[in-house]
Amino acid sequence: MTSSRFDLRGKVAVVTGGNGGIGLGMARGLADAGADIAVVGRNETKSAAAVADLRRRGVKAIAVTTDVTDKAAVAAMVDGVVSELGRIDILINNAGMSIRKPPHELELDEWNKVIDTNLTSAFVCSKLAYPALKASGNGKVINIGSMMSIFGASFATAYAASKGGIVQYTRACANAWAPDNIQVNAILPGWIDTDLTRGARQQVSGLHERVLARTPAGRWGDIDDFAGIAVFLASPASNFLTGTAIPVDGGFSVMA
Ligand code: NDP
Repeated sequence: MTSSRFDLRGKVAVVTGGNGGIGLGMARGLADAGADIAVVGRNETKSAAAVADLRRRGVKAIAVTTDVTDKAAVAAMVDGVVSELGRIDILINNAGMSIRKPPHELELDEWNKVIDTNLTSAFVCSKLAYPALKASGNGKVINIGSMMSIFGASFATAYAASKGGIVQYTRACANAWAPDNIQVNAILPGWIDTDLTRGARQQVSGLHERVLARTPAGRWGDIDDFAGIAVFLASPASNFLTGTAIPVDGGFSVMA
C-alpha cells in the first residue's frame, strides 16, 4: 500500500533541462516510478541519449527541442506534449545556467540572460502548462533553486537573484493554485557534480576543496541524489506539502 503513494504510472512529466545533470537524475527517478517523460532542452544529441536512457526504464519518453527563454517555443512544447503524451501532471522547472562575474562587472545583457533562463522561464512554462496541470486534478510543479536561494557569492550576481526569486515565485504559485489541487515546491540543491559545476570548478579557484570542507556529507552530490525527492514531490505522498523550499545538500545549509 505504501508504494502506491509513490506510484506515477499514468502520469506525464515535463522536465526542462531533463537531458543532463540534475534534470536527468530527476527524470530517471520519475521514470522508475512509472511516469512518461518529456525531456525539454536545446541540445538534440543530449536529449536523444536521455530519451534512450528513460525508455530503457519501460516508460514513454520524448524529446522536445525548446529554448525555454522563447515563449512561443514553450507554447508549442506544451501543446506538443499534450498531443503526444496526452496530458501534463508534473512540471519540473530545472533548466538553468550561470554567468560568473561580480556585480560591477556583469553586463545588462548577461544579467537578462541568467534571469530569463533561470527565473522567467519557470514563470512562462508554469503559466502555459497551468491549464493542463489543472486538468490533471493533482498537478505538481517542482522548481529548482540553489544554495544561492539562501546564501550569496561574489560571482553569483544574477544567479543568486534568479534563485532567490524562484523561492518567492514558488510561494506565490502555491497560494494561487492550491484550490486547483496543484502543489508547487522548490528543491534547493547543494553542490552537485554536473556540467554546470565542472565549469565553476574551472573558473573559481579552490571551489572543489571548499565544497568538500563545507559539506557535512563530505562529498559532492550526484545527479541520482535527486531521484527520490523528485518522486516524493511529484507523487500523492506530498499532497499536503506546498510552497516549501527543500535543501538537498548533504547538510551544506545547516553547517555553522
Ligand atoms: P547542467 O548544465 O548539467 O544542466 C542544465 C540544463 O538546462 C541542461 O539540460 C540544458 O539543456 C538546460 N538548459 C539551459 N538553458 C536552457 C534553455 N535556454 N532552454 C532549454 N534548456 C536549457 O546543470 P545542472 O544539472 O547542474 O543544473 C540544473 C539546475 O540545477 C539549474 O537550474 C541549476 O541552476 C540548478 N543547480 C545546480 C547545482 C549544481 O551544483 N550542479 C546547484 C544548485 C542548483 P541544453 O543544453 O540542451 O539546452
